[in-house]
Parts: sequence; C-alpha cells; structure tokens
Amino acid sequence: MTQMTAPHAPITAEAFADEIRNYLLTEQGVTPQEATVKDVYVATAKATRNHLVPAWAKTRADMVKGNTKAVGYLSAEFLLGRQLRNSLLDAGLSEQFSKAMAELGFDANEVVFSEPEPGLGNGGLGRLAACFVDSLASLGVPAFGYGIQYQYGIFRQEFDDQGRQYERADYWLTNENPWGHTDYNRDVRVNFGGSVQEKDGKRVWVPDWSVRAIPVDYLVPGYESGRVNTLRLWTAKAYHEIDLRTFNRGDYYGAVHNQIQAEDITKILYPEDSTPQGKELRLQQQYFFVSASLHDAIRTFYPGQEKPDLTTFPTKITFQLNDTHPVIGIPELMRILMDEYGYDWDTAWDVTTRTFNYTCHTLLPEALEVWPADLIGKLLPRHLEIIRKINENFVKLLSSLTDDQAKIDRMRIVTEGDNQQVRMAYLATAGGSHVNGVAELHSQLLKDVTLRDFNDLFPAKFTNVTNGVTPRRFVRIANPRLSDLITEGLGTDSWVSDLSKLEGLVPLADDDEFVHRFAEVKRANKRDFAAFAKERYGFEVNPNTMFDSMIKRLHEYKRQSLKILAVISRYASLKSGQTKLEDFTPRTVIFGAKAAPGYALAKETIQLINNVSRVINNDPEVEGKLNVLFPWNYNIELAQNLIPATELDEQISQAGKEASGTGNMKFALNGALTVGTLDGANVEIRDRVGHENFFLFGMTVDEVEDLYAKGYDKGMSRQYYESDPRLKQAIDMVADGTFSNGDKSTYQNLVNDWLNKDYFMTLADFRAYVGIQAEIEKTYADEKTWFRKALLNTARSGYFSSDRSIADYLERVWLTGPLPEDEKLKSRED
Ligand SMILES: *Cc1c(COP(=O)(O)O)cnc(C)c1O
Repeated sequence: MTQMTAPHAPITAEAFADEIRNYLLTEQGVTPQEATVKDVYVATAKATRNHLVPAWAKTRADMVKGNTKAVGYLSAEFLLGRQLRNSLLDAGLSEQFSKAMAELGFDANEVVFSEPEPGLGNGGLGRLAACFVDSLASLGVPAFGYGIQYQYGIFRQEFDDQGRQYERADYWLTNENPWGHTDYNRDVRVNFGGSVQEKDGKRVWVPDWSVRAIPVDYLVPGYESGRVNTLRLWTAKAYHEIDLRTFNRGDYYGAVHNQIQAEDITKILYPEDSTPQGKELRLQQQYFFVSASLHDAIRTFYPGQEKPDLTTFPTKITFQLNDTHPVIGIPELMRILMDEYGYDWDTAWDVTTRTFNYTCHTLLPEALEVWPADLIGKLLPRHLEIIRKINENFVKLLSSLTDDQAKIDRMRIVTEGDNQQVRMAYLATAGGSHVNGVAELHSQLLKDVTLRDFNDLFPAKFTNVTNGVTPRRFVRIANPRLSDLITEGLGTDSWVSDLSKLEGLVPLADDDEFVHRFAEVKRANKRDFAAFAKERYGFEVNPNTMFDSMIKRLHEYKRQSLKILAVISRYASLKSGQTKLEDFTPRTVIFGAKAAPGYALAKETIQLINNVSRVINNDPEVEGKLNVLFPWNYNIELAQNLIPATELDEQISQAGKEASGTGNMKFALNGALTVGTLDGANVEIRDRVGHENFFLFGMTVDEVEDLYAKGYDKGMSRQYYESDPRLKQAIDMVADGTFSNGDKSTYQNLVNDWLNKDYFMTLADFRAYVGIQAEIEKTYADEKTWFRKALLNTARSGYFSSDRSIADYLERVWLTGPLPEDEKLKSRED
C-alpha cells in the first residue's frame, strides 16, 4: 500500500538538522556559524514545508480525480497565527526540531518567536476560519480556504504615555515569507467598472479596468490525516507596471497611478467596526477575492475543458460564505454561468443556489451589511442587474407564498425608493441552500428576530453549527504540560484528533493525586507566563495570585467596562478598609484588547484600563494583592501564552449580543473556570461542564428585552448608579480624576454614556457581577475544590473542538465527507 500519511518521525533529528543546514547554505547563503535566528527560522520553515509537499500534491490530485465533493471556505479573514510549530506537529517533526536546534546551537523558542505573526483577521471570525481549515484537513476533507493576502494585517497596538492606544502598520511581509508560495502562473483577471451593453440580444459587460489576482498558496496540513489542503490567498497586481505613454509625457506619478490603484486592493485589512463600513475599496476587496476564487474552482475541477458541464459544479464543490463579506459571489457565479458559459437564467440559478451556504455572525439587524445600489452599479454594473433580477424573482416567489405585503416588503433584497440599498444577508439567504448561526442561542435568535421573516417562509434553510477551536494549536501546542498529563491520564494521545475522548478524564476528578497534578500544571504555566510577561512587556507578575483574564476585541457589548468598574470598586474597598487585606484573594487581572481605530468609546475604555493599572500597580498599600496588567497588541501569540496560565476566564457580554465566542472554549479546554452571562456558546459550555462548575451571573436575553421595553437606555441607568454605593463610588472615581491625574474631562464620554444611556446595561448587571466575584473567591480558597472543577471543565469541553463543528457542517450543510483512502479511490477508478 502506498504511504499516504505524512509519517510520524519521517527522519531522524540529525537528518533534519542536515536539511536545515542545506537550506541555510543553498538558499540563505550562510553557514550555521554565520546564521542568525531569522535565517534558521526561514530554513527550518522551508525544510518542514518540503516534508508536506508530496501529501499536498497527492491530496489535490485525489480531490480532482475522485468523487468526493470539496468544500470552499470563502472568508475575508484568516487569523492564522504563526505556522512553524503547527507545521512541525503535522509533519511529525516536533521532537526532531528540538534536537536539531540543540545540535545547531539555537534556542528553539527564539526561532519560533522570530516568525512574524500573520494577522490577517480582526478577531473571532478570522480565527474561526483558521481553525476550520485546520479541522477540514485533519478530517481528511478536500477543501480550499479562499481569502486575501493583505499586505498589512490587523494593526499593531501600542500605548502612549497617557495610556492611549495608537496604531502602527503591521508590515508583516517585510522579510521572506517561507510559507506562502506565490503562483504567478495561476493568475486570474478580475474586472471592474464600465457598462453593460446589448449585443445580439444579450447583455454584455464591458469593463473599464482590471486587476491581476495572483494566488499565494499556504499549505494546510492535517493532523495525522495524511492530507494537506490549500489556503489560497489572493494578492492584487497591476497588468501594466507603468504606463509608458504617460511616463514619456513627463507625468511620473500618473504613470504608476494605475499600478497603485490596482495594488491598493489587497493593501490593508479593514478594521472591524460595530457597523459595517460603506467603503468602495472594501467592496473591491470582496469582489476581487470572490471572483478569483470562483474562476479558480472552475479551472481546478474542469481542467483543460473549454466547455465544461457546469451543471455538475455543485457536486464538485460547496462554498461556505463566512459572514456577508463574500456574498457578492452569488451574482458573480450567476454572471459566470450565463455570460461566460452561456447557460440560461433558470439553470444558472439552480446551480448557484445549490452551491452556496451562508454563516451569519451577528444579531443586530443594523449590523447586517448593506451596499448602496449606486456603488455596486458603478463598480459592478452587470452584477447590479443580476441582483435586481434575483430580487424581482424573489418577490414573485414570496407573493406566491404569502399575502402579507408588509412582510414581502421587509424581505426585499434591494430596498425601494431613493438611496436603494442591497441587503447582503438577505441575498445570501435567498441565494443559498443553508443559513446557520454559530451557537444554539444565536441560531434561535436568528430565527426569532434577525431573519424571522425568512425563517417563517423557508424554515428548512435554517440550522445551527456551534463554533469550535482546534485542539492542535490551542491545547497540544499552547499547553504541552497539560497535553502530557491528559495523554497520561487517558493512556493515549488520540484525544488530539478526537477531543470527545477528554470525557475519559471525568473519573479522575475524584482522584486527588491527579487533581493535584492538574493544579501543578496550572502553576507551572503561571510561572511561565510570569517570565514571558517580564521578558516581553517588562511586567512584574506574582504567580502566587489568581490569574483572571479578559482577552477579546474591545467592544461595548463585551463589557470590558463592567470588569474595570468592578476592579476599581475592589481597589476602593481595600483602600477604605471595608475589605480586610487578609481576607482578600490576591489577584492578577489581565486585559488584552484592541479597539477599532475609529471607535472613540472603546479607546477611552483602553485608556481607563491602562490608568487604573498604573494607579493600582504603584500603590504600596495594595501591593501583592491586586495587580492589573494590560499587555498591548493582543494576538494569537498572547492567547497561546496566557490561556494555559489563566484560572478565571471572563465572558461577561450583555446577554443576546455575543453570537458565540470562541475564546470561552479555549479557556475551558485549558482548565479555566468561566464567569459569564447566558450568552452565545457560554450557554452550551455551562450545560456541558456542569452548572456547578461555571460562575453564572447577570440578566438573561428576556430580562434584557424587558428592561429595554421599560426604557433603560433612555436614562434609567442613573437609578442603578444612585442606588448602589459601590457602583457610585467606582464611577465617581473615574469622573473625579483619580485615574487621570485630577483631570475630570479625560473619561467624560464614558461617564456620560454610563449615566445617560448605557445601552449594554453594564450598570444594571454590576451588582450581580460583584456578587459572583465574592463567590468565586470563596471557591478559590479551597484549592482542591477549585481544581476539581477546573479539571471537569477540561474533561467536558471536548465538544468545542472545531473538528466537531466541521463534522456538523459536513452532516447538516455540506453533505460531503473525507477523501477515501488510496485503495478505495483506486478501485473506483478501475
Ligand atoms: C479566539 C480569539 C479571538 C476571539 O475571542 P472571543 O473572546 O471569542 O471574542 C479573538 N482574537 C484572538 C487573537 C483569538 O485567538
């Protein structure tokens, strides 16, 4: 039988060291003695990649030749994190790497850290896409991830001496990028602008300018599946580097203008905002990567065929739309089928609707992406025609299903009247087979609220797939000590590819010795984090305190302000002697969060956290008791270092606002207890780990709705401020300049918002939050109880593997599965 699995320990450490030496010499032109850490990183990356390439080629060949429908995951963001450790793990070279580094005289961690982190996403949505491609490959499912290689990813966050965030460009491609293979020979032309003309009774798009889309391929190895898929990220190039005629007229700038315009398309990742931005460049990005990807898929599955039978397209590949960003793919596939391949409307529509599925990531109706019809018309005139026709047909269909004219009007894909808008979520729902939310609660709210009319008429389209995270990166690699203990406890390491096996740890929660060792792992991880925080940020961290973390994008709905107000209240009560120092559980409170550059209240919150940290950390009266850290530039690296060391995880969003969350899953798997609201996937985490092992507080979705109905955001929050002395004291301290050297204006917007609007009900949930914190301290005081609960969190969180999410998509949405093993594939071909 041919070897299809990248074998474990394919070569010895000595041989691997030789390969690295060879790359150093032949590609970097240096000897190991001359080599820098960065040289060694690049050479190691190339040597590792080389071990994966045969399985990559074979996976592609099997996919094209075989009969297994592939998955195309279309996403504007892939927040990959560093690649080296993950690739080593999947190539079966982790141990050889450690030894080879020792042999070459380099520190393995330094080599790993010298890789720039590709930050091609804002947060959860982009990280989800990265976890999903990892799981697809690990399950052996033939798949493409399709997206954009931004030249600048998510900005680098730094803080100034006032504690304010400022943004620096993330120029992650300054050095050689050994993972991305730029394939100039598989470029695709993407057109824009112009007009639609009538030719021989047919509508023909005559575009005005085009851009060259060039694929940069990243290998996506599976863990022990022997499969390596492709993540194809597109980069934009001009067709003509400079316009010689313009150049010769002496207009140097004008001569390169086209090039600049074309290459701007993939220049920068848009920072996430609470409302989607109507930026023309963003629409260009969306169309650019989707059009290139659809053409690429046709070329891949019908190689060399001039007149392919595209009615079979939905049996070759199914596309998942990760939020609305790639939804322009629906009219684009219609256009390709009709205008490029001559199919009639009905055939094209049948193929298209069987090809796409849509994942919705939001709940707020106002956060659903819309584009002005005028803008689409200017950039993509033929697509606007197609969208209008889709809308017209859809309204006809609705009229045949219901007499409720108001409902039909609400459901229009293109709004009527002046300033017509195209509603991308509606286009996706009408033009695809399935729509899913990302946690049980979220999917229910989608059906009941956000897309209610659609659910009324097309209930079969709606389903749920609860998010997950990859256990390879977020347990096996991030937490080697815990991984070893789990493997020992279970007597096998098969949990890495089947996380439901963690259940087998449940009986060990009654084994005091095992619980003790679980606690020792956490303590060692805390010491590691303290060392990392010292080295990377210059922080003094006392590992003999409770590590309490809140890391996620800064958003009002996530309510970092609830946590910082509770910290201030804590501090005040220590200072006033209300809380005796000896009764106090020493804590290190850790925040990590970036704010969208234009989001003023979020930025003010960051400034407040930094200055609370400064005041508390410099107050000798609370030294060793309370410490607040805000490591800047929260990214995957920080997540991988902090999560294994965290004991208390904060998931305190306003109920009904967090679609799922995936940070919550990473923490539970790594043995942190969660303090959280009944929101997103918290609900399912709590049900699985056991209600007694989760610190629940705060209002429910229904209670939130009731409070809005009473007019909460029209001034009611002030009543909470007036009636809770602790809350009043904390807010007063923010207002009176305690955290701004006496300046009362610094946090004016934040204070005003709390007292007059507080849309996300921070004040209303404050009392419950402070109450649960007291309970947390009581539990923490008894180490055995705490770590027993922590162990049960790990043991019962196997469900939150992204492997399980992918299995759910395969069953409920994509209706496909893994590539068969070699032998079966051969017999089918015979
Ligand atoms: C997991 C992750 C997120 C998502 O966190 P949530 O708490 O679910 O919002 C965001 N950013 C990074 C770097 C992550 O690893």
